[in-house]
Amino acid sequence: MERKLTCIICPLGCELTVKTEDKQILEITGHTCPRGKAYAESECTAPKRTITSTVKCADGGLVSVKTDKPIPKEKMSECMEIINSIKAKLPISIGDIIVENVFGSNIVATQNRR
Ligand code: SF4
Repeated sequence: MERKLTCIICPLGCELTVKTEDKQILEITGHTCPRGKAYAESECTAPKRTITSTVKCADGGLVSVKTDKPIPKEKMSECMEIINSIKAKLPISIGDIIVENVFGSNIVATQNRR
């Protein structure tokens, strides 16, 4: 089996081809650097995504957040349910942890709110 992927690690967006047989990776081509090969391996065995979203604040406004590490792709909806259920206390600074250890990642603020 052959799978085509676009590497999302950097803006170059290399077109990757992964050949597999019985779920085993036989060959990866098209990557320009080792990060692309690692991305293709991860995408074909245990895909992960970084989530960016917003969290409600105590004053009724919003603060932008993201996961500080990619989480398993199949946990994205559960992660969004957690993000949507939060009401964060102010003040918030960039990098503050809003929720700890959500599927191995922290939800962190990406903006300041006073
Ligand atoms: S393979 Fe390397 S150079 Fe190509 S898009 Fe991925 S990270 Fe960028």
